[in-house]
Amino acid sequence: MNSYQKKDLQYIWHPCSQMKDYEELPPIVIERGEGCYLYDVEGNKYLDCISSWWTNLFGHSNKRINKALQNQINNIEHVIFANFSNKPAIELAEKLVEITPDRLKKVYFSDNGSSAVEIALKMSFHYHQQKGVSKKTKFATITNAYHGETLGALSVGHLDLYSKIYKPLLFDTIRAEGPDCYRCKYGQNRETCNAECFEDMEKVLQDKHEELCGIIIEPMIQGAAGMRMYSPIYLKKLRIACDKYQIHFIADEIAVGFGRTGKMFACEHAGISPDLMCLSKGISAGYMPMSVVMTSDEIYEAFYGEYTELKAFLHSHTYAGNAMACAIACESLKIFEEDNVLENNKIKSQLIRELTLEKAKNCPYVGEVRQLGMVTAVELVKDKVTKEVFSWKDRVGYEIYKIALNKGLLLRPIGNVLYFLPPYVITEKDIKYMVNTTFESIYEYFRK
Ligand SMILES: *Cc1c(COP(=O)(O)O)cnc(C)c1O
Repeated sequence: MNSYQKKDLQYIWHPCSQMKDYEELPPIVIERGEGCYLYDVEGNKYLDCISSWWTNLFGHSNKRINKALQNQINNIEHVIFANFSNKPAIELAEKLVEITPDRLKKVYFSDNGSSAVEIALKMSFHYHQQKGVSKKTKFATITNAYHGETLGALSVGHLDLYSKIYKPLLFDTIRAEGPDCYRCKYGQNRETCNAECFEDMEKVLQDKHEELCGIIIEPMIQGAAGMRMYSPIYLKKLRIACDKYQIHFIADEIAVGFGRTGKMFACEHAGISPDLMCLSKGISAGYMPMSVVMTSDEIYEAFYGEYTELKAFLHSHTYAGNAMACAIACESLKIFEEDNVLENNKIKSQLIRELTLEKAKNCPYVGEVRQLGMVTAVELVKDKVTKEVFSWKDRVGYEIYKIALNKGLLLRPIGNVLYFLPPYVITEKDIKYMVNTTFESIYEYFRK
């Protein structure tokens, strides 16, 4: 353990960790980054296969973004966002309205994903109250959903690992059974699927729509549940049902926005527009805490009136509209346009797909390889035929993570699901290194 690690463990409580694990494998202290690589204080380098928690788009310490940030700092770093505004926030908001699906016309700024979810829930609930439909007080979600870790976000999430102990603190949510394509109950495969699994949601909405203000969903990929990918037809059906029953469609694109799925926004796969959309993670290219909630004119107008009518949405976060984060986001969107990023990513994701399928073909532990855009997941199973899973206590993912780390890869498996979610600047050479080394690590684990 080096001296930084000793001090780190003396003073820091890390997120999403059992701190005891660090006795064996202390935190890796990163000194600098360049492109897809991270360099630690001991001079080791790691290929960041997960874009540092799904945030980084154009590499670490990107020259172009650094420059935009420097320019911004020399003007204004941050300014109060109530009654005041700043140029990058205005530029960004205009751009976001232009590139997001058509119903989304107003931008509400915040500073992290969970708080964007809280804002979307509050806005949706409050909207119906404004409209005098006071019975609409609940949200619907699907099984295996993840929307963040604050109490409202946990209430609409459905991963016991994160929420079970807090149940007494959470509000009541109506849950429909979501898609499960790898283990499809309807005997469909991804080609024949017509989102038959929407059946349960349809029933829930039919029965409960009078109580429902909104439904929140991760479009196309349920990330934290293990990169579970499902059909856009499900989203199309959901859009139709939400219109029919006057329920807000809240798209949580925090993980999938900004090109991750191959389209700028995941809702585009289904050709639908949500009523509210949460964006974070990639929005600031992995540089700064930042999020937005995009809403429709209809929702915005329900809050518009004289001060004395008490209609306003009195929610705030201190760092909302931070000028540095907004300047970075603007620069990031320029890179998308000027470097033809989505087109170029197609070639990269194709290569990741081919190499992964090739390696997975003869591997007895790979149940499924699935991919959408720049997200590729490898689900490991005990038995390919029965699709039986490993016990979570075996920590298969964590063990493989440790092996891969020694080989210079930063993976972060979710249970028994390994995935590649690299920065968009990853090269062909690094793609090969990433896929080959991951499979070497898988084999090494199972040889033990
Ligand atoms: C990461 C994530 C969140 C929470 O964002 P934080 O910034 O970690 O609070 C919410 N929803 C989805 C889909 C996410 O992936």
